[in-house]
Amino acid sequence: MDSIEPRKKNKPLAVFLTLLVILSSSILVYESVGYSTGGRNRPAVISISSDDGFASVYRIAFPIFKERGIPATVFVIATEIGFPGHFNLSQLTEMQDNGWEIGSHAMHHVKLTTLNETALSNEVVESKQLLMSHGFNVSSFAYPFSDINENVVKVVSNNYVVARLTAGPDDYIGYYPEIVKKEEFVVKAMSAVTDFQTIRRNIDTAIERHEWINFYFHGVEKDAKIDENLPWTLTDMADYIKEKVDMGLLRTMTFIGAFEYFKNLVHFYGPFQTLNNINLLESVANPYSREAEFLPSPNRFSGVTS
Ligand SMILES: [Zn+2]
Repeated sequence: MDSIEPRKKNKPLAVFLTLLVILSSSILVYESVGYSTGGRNRPAVISISSDDGFASVYRIAFPIFKERGIPATVFVIATEIGFPGHFNLSQLTEMQDNGWEIGSHAMHHVKLTTLNETALSNEVVESKQLLMSHGFNVSSFAYPFSDINENVVKVVSNNYVVARLTAGPDDYIGYYPEIVKKEEFVVKAMSAVTDFQTIRRNIDTAIERHEWINFYFHGVEKDAKIDENLPWTLTDMADYIKEKVDMGLLRTMTFIGAFEYFKNLVHFYGPFQTLNNINLLESVANPYSREAEFLPSPNRFSGVTS
């Protein structure tokens, strides 16, 4: 008698538990496929770029990254190839052959907003042509000194797929695919010249948010440091990235590679928001941040397109 009673009492509980298991496994499947998040359950993406074309990047950074399967992008000043301390053609070719991207950092390292139309065209258009005549597939541009205005952005966006600006290391800047638009699009890279805790925190934040982040640096000092005052080395950074890649949390891509990947995600997951050119230039701190995306205003976003 006693043994029957509890069983009767437990039946509703068993049914409840079964339903709970079914429900939670459905949620798990739903989440893992990414339906609920617009496909945001994908690994984060990291792109690393180096500006100004220093040969130390070939000598020191390239082997460290290559060994760990990490591609990067080098933005070179087109007229300075082969200068003392700068990449030569065979080094650049070897890097491109190993999956690295060669981008333009203009003909000379000048502020583009100070130039007339002819000089601006020379910096932007002819630097690309010169690099391509050497056999490089150039699609990306990095603005010297991050110096832009509306006209500079227009000329660059007419000649490149995507362009890059720089930002300090302390403000995290990550990107969702929903904000990517081919025309006028610029991406901000965070300086890697900072303490290693900040590097790690920025990578971890990107992973948490499933976003695309960019780091940049210039040359490499002895002992694989990107700044002689920093205690950490590029090996530390590459190891940390590889650890996250091996865990399936992070993917490494060139600048253009990540941009194209995000564009495809946008097409795959449907309509996305665009940013208009004017507001890009008005952007003070971080127009493409997650926060900006969550605070859409008619002024900032020019609506939905495909
Ligand atoms: Zn530069």
